[in-house]
Amino acid sequence: METQTHASEMPFTGVPKGRFAPSPSGRMHLGNLFTALVSWLSVKSRGGKWVLRIEDLDRQRSREEYAMQIEDDLLWLGLEWDEGGLKNIGDAGPYCQSMRDEIYADALRSIGDRGLLYPCRCRRADILATQAPHQSDGRVVYAGTCRPSERPPFLKTDVDNLVAALRLYVPDENICFTDLVFGKQSINLARHCGDFVMRRADGAWAYQLAVVVDDALMGVTEVVRGCDLLISTAQQIYLYSLLGYDTPEFMHLPLICNHLGQRLSKRDAMMDVGTLRKNFTAREVLGRLAYMARLIPEPVPIGLGNLIPEFSVERIPAVGCVIGEGV
Ligand code: GLU
Repeated sequence: METQTHASEMPFTGVPKGRFAPSPSGRMHLGNLFTALVSWLSVKSRGGKWVLRIEDLDRQRSREEYAMQIEDDLLWLGLEWDEGGLKNIGDAGPYCQSMRDEIYADALRSIGDRGLLYPCRCRRADILATQAPHQSDGRVVYAGTCRPSERPPFLKTDVDNLVAALRLYVPDENICFTDLVFGKQSINLARHCGDFVMRRADGAWAYQLAVVVDDALMGVTEVVRGCDLLISTAQQIYLYSLLGYDTPEFMHLPLICNHLGQRLSKRDAMMDVGTLRKNFTAREVLGRLAYMARLIPEPVPIGLGNLIPEFSVERIPAVGCVIGEGV
């Protein structure tokens, strides 16, 4: 019989804290704004706080100018953050992942000391590991090529002097959690992703490790993002349990697609925020986004303050994608 790990599902009673965690590798698009808006409304409708974290783990593609542009675009919509950003407001910083090496090293050491990692010399996964693995970008299930046939008990792994990438042994186990939009999930890690990379051979930290450590240490209680990261959520819940952190709540959102049903990417110039800002007012964009989230019945221009009382997670449709046409 398969074993199961359940995310802790105690009702949350404190001050909610949400976060938006963009990668500064280009101009944002409508889908990023959708996530940011829903996350912001969800915490602000309950008197909570909102964190802006810059996910610049991928040093080759990340640029400070893009991070500055992200801040400017969020402020254009009125989405102010209480913590984080390039000015590092708050006590849980730094809020740029490129400045958090020691924090990730400590977390990974605690896993390596328990014999849960092994070196891997496979190349492709190395390259993909720092990016959030959106499913449409071709997720691969690791075949276990470098996994030792016998797992040496409690063999400590040196996570600082790398000779190869480091992978985490994952159990053949169902990870169970209840998503606030998509409901009950049960995802088997061995079948859906296999042993995953925690640190690349060149020293770069994997997204999965960094995002868990950051959300936990920044006190995030609610993670809102696109539904292409549902499987990553199972990986992350497993890491929360290994690291002894409380698990936040998760709210996954439909992806924004074009009229052909294709997911938006940073390459779709039509949907990039630069183009939107030239053609529409902030109130028009807010109205469209709120309509896509089914928070309002018609895509009419609306101010952020008027949207706060309209927010209810029950209204968000549990579908894979909504069309971002007409914005
Ligand atoms: N930096 C990731 C992205 O932009 C964030 C994913 C998440 O919210 O966990 O896709």
